[in-house]
Amino acid sequence: MNQRTIARPVSLKGIGLHSGKESEVIMAPAEAGAGITINGIPAIISNVTSTDRATTIGGVALVEHLLSAAYGLGIDNLKVAVTGPELPIGDGSALPFAQALEQAGPVEQPAERLYYELKENITVKEGEALLAARPFDGFKVEFMVKFEGFGEQTLIFDPSRQSYLKEIAPARTFGRLSEAEALKRQGLALGASLGNALVLGKDGYVNEPRFPDEPVRHKLLDLIGDLALLGRPLCAALKAERSGHKLNTELVRRLLANDRT
Ligand SMILES: [Zn+2]
Repeated sequence: MNQRTIARPVSLKGIGLHSGKESEVIMAPAEAGAGITINGIPAIISNVTSTDRATTIGGVALVEHLLSAAYGLGIDNLKVAVTGPELPIGDGSALPFAQALEQAGPVEQPAERLYYELKENITVKEGEALLAARPFDGFKVEFMVKFEGFGEQTLIFDPSRQSYLKEIAPARTFGRLSEAEALKRQGLALGASLGNALVLGKDGYVNEPRFPDEPVRHKLLDLIGDLALLGRPLCAALKAERSGHKLNTELVRRLLANDRT
């Protein structure tokens, strides 16, 4: 399989989730081997400055939905330029980025794609959260989450059989109303609204879900975005239970550390 970029630049505008301020992102073709850069900074784990609520690179927060879209669509090389402190939240999913990348025409480049091939099992844990990777000739993820009032949601995603664009990209970020109010009091989530998040009530969704199990799909979307920080597509089978950005990025760090030894 060869590396891919996009045929022409494409741009998106919108407000940021936390700042509530307008920002613009331009995604442009990049040469083979360049990887994904954000304002000139490679989108790899060693350049992540925060994973608190969102993944931040080069002073730009909430890069994970764009990275998820690129990884999910098999785009290896991309030059991303952002004005503002965070990427636009759009509809809270990776769909606006995925659609923009599709419109910009993914193209193959004259260089072979280099994969990270996992050789041994790696598991990272924290409290009730777990993320395990085992060697596998391909890529697939099983994700389980559990929320009060919603019970358990489990999803298996295998991109060789299922479409990232249809099954994962449209899943929106989610939260509880009480959390959004507390965040707003701290000056965060100022851009959050029913238009860019799925809201969980005490015993059901407050607004219309896009899938009955939309939250687990978004967790998987975020995991794929965090895996992009490896800098190479991963060949492995993953099992995640209640994992989030912190554990996801810890797995990426462990994978890279093992690669060096
Ligand atoms: Zn997310």
